[in-house]
Amino acid sequence: MHYISTRDKSAQVSSAGAIAMGLSREGGLFVPAALPVLPKNAIEELAGMSYPQRAVYIMRPFLSDYSVGEIADFAARAYGPSAFDDPNIAPVRELREGVSVLELWHGPTCAFKDMALQILPRLVTSAMAKYGAGKQVCVLTATSGDTGKAALEGFAGVEGTKVAVFYPEQGVSEIQRLQMVTQRGGNAGVFALRGNFDDAQSAVKAIFSDESLRQELSARGWILSSANSINWGRLLPQIVYYFSAYCDLLAARRIVPGERVNFCVPTGNFGDILAGWYAKRMGLPVGRLICASNSNNVLTDFINSGVYDRNRPLRKTISPSMDILVSSNLERLIFDLTGDHRETAGYMRELAERGRYEVRGGIKSRIAREFWADFCGDGETMDVIGRVHRDFGYLMDPHTAVACGVFEKYAAATGDGTYTVVLSTASPYKFCGSVLTALCHRPRDGGVELIGELERVSGTRAPASIAALATAVLRFTGSFDKSELRCVVRDFISD
Ligand SMILES: *Cc1c(COP(=O)(O)O)cnc(C)c1O
Repeated sequence: MHYISTRDKSAQVSSAGAIAMGLSREGGLFVPAALPVLPKNAIEELAGMSYPQRAVYIMRPFLSDYSVGEIADFAARAYGPSAFDDPNIAPVRELREGVSVLELWHGPTCAFKDMALQILPRLVTSAMAKYGAGKQVCVLTATSGDTGKAALEGFAGVEGTKVAVFYPEQGVSEIQRLQMVTQRGGNAGVFALRGNFDDAQSAVKAIFSDESLRQELSARGWILSSANSINWGRLLPQIVYYFSAYCDLLAARRIVPGERVNFCVPTGNFGDILAGWYAKRMGLPVGRLICASNSNNVLTDFINSGVYDRNRPLRKTISPSMDILVSSNLERLIFDLTGDHRETAGYMRELAERGRYEVRGGIKSRIAREFWADFCGDGETMDVIGRVHRDFGYLMDPHTAVACGVFEKYAAATGDGTYTVVLSTASPYKFCGSVLTALCHRPRDGGVELIGELERVSGTRAPASIAALATAVLRFTGSFDKSELRCVVRDFISD
């Protein structure tokens, strides 16, 4: 299978090329030239498999220049008991009749980013060996909180790599910050940037399109790559858990073979939900994909009106991993629906120049048929956390609660009784302060000192890696301006 850029017809690369490069030269994103459609009995076959086996089955057709043995080895090591604290890797728990939660946070950093970032480094280093002519890879990642730590963990100690993470100084939770600044390992760098996540993301994007820096680094034996969800290697592993959840629902007899399932996804960069879209295109019986946003509701407006407009202030919310105004992966959906490089590039140019674009009518109505969107403000989100805990004895983090709240709105607005899976993207312990505030109805602010209290109030246990933060050593302090990024990257690589 080969990959093409969303913006340039002539840009074609192999799967290893797409994964090694991350982003196409002209700024487009790599997508498969054609999506594999799974055989009719695929679900039956997948149902009998473990999670790593399911991952191999789904990912294999996309990775034609990797051997099956390689993929199987990567999957077995990525989704094994040393990294995940649940034997099902991505367990499905029924909340009430007709609604389940898919828990994607049993990996080392307690957020769904691990689902992709535990395997991405293996895909990248192997791609470098195939394609990179002996070069070493430096991964640069802008993070709104969870990607950064997941990338640091995924690449920790991986030979021939360095990983630098840039987070908005004021934009992440205290636990998220601690997870990053205590990272161990010689190949890691963690940098606080002054500004918000969009500033960090655009600064990192600018580094990628800096041709002179690229050449200088290349001459010194380094290639830049990305762990953001613009990398195809980030997206691909996420398709797996949609299939896996469906198989688990079948096994538990909550649905019957062929029955359609809705997925409700807390959305920021549009990566997670896009993986669900691809799963549907590959043949998974998916009904509606429900796109849940926080009060940075650019996607809600887009799905409901066809107008993408980022000209609004970025709001800081209690679901910081979704505090995003430019959802990079939407470009892949638009390309998939238009099939037109020039049209996609045109919209992206308008977005860059005017911060706004409007898709044509046909695309708008297709999106409205396949997706449904709404958002929850912080107050509603808190309310959902408290209510779900009280009514169902289930503790959820603010991102998951946004999705849960939007699902309630969907059910009320449409009356649709289709079985629904709400994607749960983080452990509630990553957001102790907000979750405790929701449960106790009085403002709580802080990090590690609240872990014990949340355990007592909720009757649950904190994941071991989060409990360990209380005694971890801080390694990365200080903050930088985005104008310094170029120098920071140079110095980091020379180090
Ligand atoms: C990254 C993240 C999201 C948003 O996922 P996207 O793929 O960016 O849409 C939601 N919740 C949590 C906890 C996250 O870390």
